Amino acid sequence: MSDSFPTQAVTEALLAWFRARQRDLPWRRTRDPYAIWVAETMLQQTQVSTVIPYYERFLERFPTVRSLAEADLDAVLALWQGLGYYARARHLHAAAREVMTRYGGRLPPEYKALRALPGIGEYTAAALMSIAFDQDYAVIDGNVRRALCRLFDYAADPTTAEGKRALQAFSEALLPKGQAGPYNQAMMELGATLCLPREPLCSDCPVQPYCLARQRGVERERPVQRARIARRERTFIAAYIARGDRLLLLRRRPEGLLGGLWELPNTELGPGEGDAEALQRLLQELSLGVSEIGEALGTIRHAYSHFTALVRLYRCATLGEASPAGLWDAAAWLSADERAGYGLTGVTRKALENKRNISEYEENF
Ligand code: SF4
Repeated sequence: MSDSFPTQAVTEALLAWFRARQRDLPWRRTRDPYAIWVAETMLQQTQVSTVIPYYERFLERFPTVRSLAEADLDAVLALWQGLGYYARARHLHAAAREVMTRYGGRLPPEYKALRALPGIGEYTAAALMSIAFDQDYAVIDGNVRRALCRLFDYAADPTTAEGKRALQAFSEALLPKGQAGPYNQAMMELGATLCLPREPLCSDCPVQPYCLARQRGVERERPVQRARIARRERTFIAAYIARGDRLLLLRRRPEGLLGGLWELPNTELGPGEGDAEALQRLLQELSLGVSEIGEALGTIRHAYSHFTALVRLYRCATLGEASPAGLWDAAAWLSADERAGYGLTGVTRKALENKRNISEYEENF
């Protein structure tokens, strides 16, 4: 970074703009470290407008670390349902329990202690240290990264180790001592509302006079993108098994992808395997005797971060009780009312929301 870069002028312009223009968001009306922790956890990889109703419901139901620590994981996951990245909810719940036992229910105002809690990475620890505890830590999320790359015209990939170091140095150079909370929030706000990915609103931007990428006309080329890897497609078969008004659902083991969530029995299609064969294999693994594999109810497409799942859903009639095995550690026959109290996977929610197919199925069954 050049010594001539006017860090103080940038920071002053940024803070003045933030004071005048910041959005009124529910987590900005509190100084409670627990509430700020919940908000920062929900905001990871998720839009503000999506988070607001989840945040409000969550704080209403679990207003303190103690209330969250004492809750069942199923109740926490049910409130988180639809927000995605469920490991965040499992970690928040586990960390709340740890905060109760180790710190008497108060989040420790210390970076290392925060980092040692489940689910608290560099980003969340720095956000808590600055926003909740007024300590001089710089926070770099995706929005801040984009704004910094443009402001300093950083012409390399910012996601490499070297790129991260460079951005950390830019942000620390800007950070005004004793005002890390407002500074971090102002940078995040700038990236979220003006320094937008495709069409940055430079003419409204408080730091435009200092923005190097803007001066050089390359703001749309920053940040430099790393080469994209095509998302793989994987095919799964799922079984819709109802008895009366109850549906068979299985709970995924706590470790791993979507741990603790409930879902329709399903399996990935093996190489050269037909749908019926895969279903028979699945139902045998669950110790369910099959009396009928019925018609296809539809295909659900669901994008995960590393692959897209295509899930073909079939109605099945089975005998006996399911013994959960493999990916699952519990099985239950749940009515629609009961299902509302459980966290379901995205695929299962999509399958059950697919009213046309499901009601056709109910009539035919
Ligand atoms: Fe982003 Fe434009 Fe502001 Fe530069 S001038 S920080 S590109 S909005």
